[in-house]
Amino acid sequence: MNNDDKRFKLPGSPWFYIVLALVVMVTVNAFTMSRLGGSVQTVDYSTFTEMVEKGQVEAVEIGSSVITFTTKGGTLFSQSARYQTVAIDDQYLVERLLQYGVSFAGEQVGLSLFDILLVYVLPLAFYGLLIFWVIKLLRGGMSGGIGAMGFGKSSAKLYEVSATSKKFTDVAGQDEAKEALIELVDFLHQPEKYRSIGAKLPKGALLVGPPGTGKTLIAQAVAGEAGVPFFFVSGSAFVEMFVGAGAARVRDLFKQANEKAPCIVFIDEIDAIGKKRDTSGINVNDEREQSLNQLLAEMDGFDPNKGIVVLGATNRPEILDKALLRPGRFDRRIAVDLPDLKGREAVLKVHARPIHMGKDVDYTAIAKATVGASGADLANIINEAALRAVRMGHPAVLQQDLEAAVDTVIAGSERKSLVVPPKEKRMIACHEIGHALVAAKEKNAAPVHKITIIPRTSGALGYTMQVDEDEHVLHSREDLLARMTVLTAGRAAEQFMFGTCTTGASNDIEQLTRLARSMVTRFGMSGKFGMMSLESGGSAYLGMDGQLTCSLDTATLVDQEVQRLIGESFDRATQILKENAAKLSQLTNYLLEKETLLGDEFMEILNASAPEALEKQSAPPAESGDPA
Ligand code: ADP
Ligand code: ZN
Repeated sequence: MNNDDKRFKLPGSPWFYIVLALVVMVTVNAFTMSRLGGSVQTVDYSTFTEMVEKGQVEAVEIGSSVITFTTKGGTLFSQSARYQTVAIDDQYLVERLLQYGVSFAGEQVGLSLFDILLVYVLPLAFYGLLIFWVIKLLRGGMSGGIGAMGFGKSSAKLYEVSATSKKFTDVAGQDEAKEALIELVDFLHQPEKYRSIGAKLPKGALLVGPPGTGKTLIAQAVAGEAGVPFFFVSGSAFVEMFVGAGAARVRDLFKQANEKAPCIVFIDEIDAIGKKRDTSGINVNDEREQSLNQLLAEMDGFDPNKGIVVLGATNRPEILDKALLRPGRFDRRIAVDLPDLKGREAVLKVHARPIHMGKDVDYTAIAKATVGASGADLANIINEAALRAVRMGHPAVLQQDLEAAVDTVIAGSERKSLVVPPKEKRMIACHEIGHALVAAKEKNAAPVHKITIIPRTSGALGYTMQVDEDEHVLHSREDLLARMTVLTAGRAAEQFMFGTCTTGASNDIEQLTRLARSMVTRFGMSGKFGMMSLESGGSAYLGMDGQLTCSLDTATLVDQEVQRLIGESFDRATQILKENAAKLSQLTNYLLEKETLLGDEFMEILNASAPEALEKQSAPPAESGDPA
């Protein structure tokens, strides 16, 4: 949203004016100072009397120790010369001055009314003006756009309906969300039907779900289906630097919406303003609160029959203010979750529609390999695959393009230029085979889908991908323990084969610790604490950790428990690797040669009776083809 261009109505930046003001100030000061003083030349007393007698002196100021005098001929801009001389006890002085018609005084000379104006009034007026200007600048935000710099304008982008606008058919999966919104579409289509019965439709609905699951897309589709204008605005646009600017924007947005009604107002990231209001301590977020209050007031204010529907999107519903969620505001809550297997397949198909896809494409396989991917990720995979197909000169997008695109989206693209020393390459291969071998041997672990030691731009030097046969909504304790064992297996293999450990396991360690901690604090899966909740405040959709809600003593015990779980997993992984030591080194060699191993290939070697398979597999493999 680019609104910078309308922010400043004055040409140039405020800095220009500040510098200009300074220059003017200095000039005025110098000018007045020169009127007052300028340089004073010291002469001796005899010269002074001489000048008086010659009639050159205009005015004299007699002080107790110095006599200051000015010569004739000064104008407004060119200062007459100023002199001073030591005061001598001269009894004829006054008489002499009277004789030559020189004006004299005991006070300072030459300060006319004009001078007073110039010296005192002008700078004061100037400073006053400056202060006034600054205040006006700051006020601009509050008065809603009429200020000097035009703060407070709504930055809502208005999308008029067009032939290309989104429809529900562009949204794959998310059937529940669509169902909940169809009623709204109908209402926007024919409000009279509802009006005549007296039914009131919800003024707003909240779309809740992780990033990239299509919340914006669904809102657009509602507008598209109903054929009404769509206002898009991000919640953060209401949080401005100046208190009151955000509220003014909310007002402005609803004013525009009122003019275009029926319409959809979509507020993305509504948690930016809708966060729970703080009642504790100092109020640091006045601005956000004002915006929120304004939003609540606007939502209460507009006529429900007019046909303004406010859709909000957030991925942090748990932090929203209760006031936002009460009836008459966002009282409908629509979950837009990560797609399941069927959903992923549908998203892939929707995005593949405009693309020339090959006959061998298996969407189900890709959907299976992308557990946890959002709609946006899947759209990205299709696009990456299409780009790769062009790069490789394929006539259409093939399955191998899609497979490679999955890797690219999950782990970044291949880093062909990275040269890994042979010894380290061997360690990486051993590490990955460690993961894969333990995954294959653990009953509860997901089967191995792919192992690769091609470095990726994400920083991964290799990875092992496991793909579950079917989707899970629940994970048992055994599943999680198996996952932990697999995660420790990389390091365990390094330790077992090379007797040392490397930095390559850092990502494993992070995942492992987080998993173990969750098991203890959130899932009640440790023997020690049982079903005791020890953590709160995490975000379900963003995967953020919460905070421990126990005493410090218990926190220490939690750490010990986590450590115990990790230690046991590591021991178990080591045990499995020891039992399969021959396979570990055989597979490591094989992976070193091939760089990428598919799950079937891997299982075949693993399950083959040892010596024969060794013979067969260590024969140089055929050209490995495209390694990705
Ligand atoms: P959000 O607002 O939830 O963060 P978006 O609506 O911006 O996500 O989705 C980003 C992109 O991801 C969309 O433009 C679309 O291409 C794709 N996408 C996400 N979910 C879906 C879906 N269910 N069906 C089709 N495309 C989707
Ligand atoms: Zn690893």
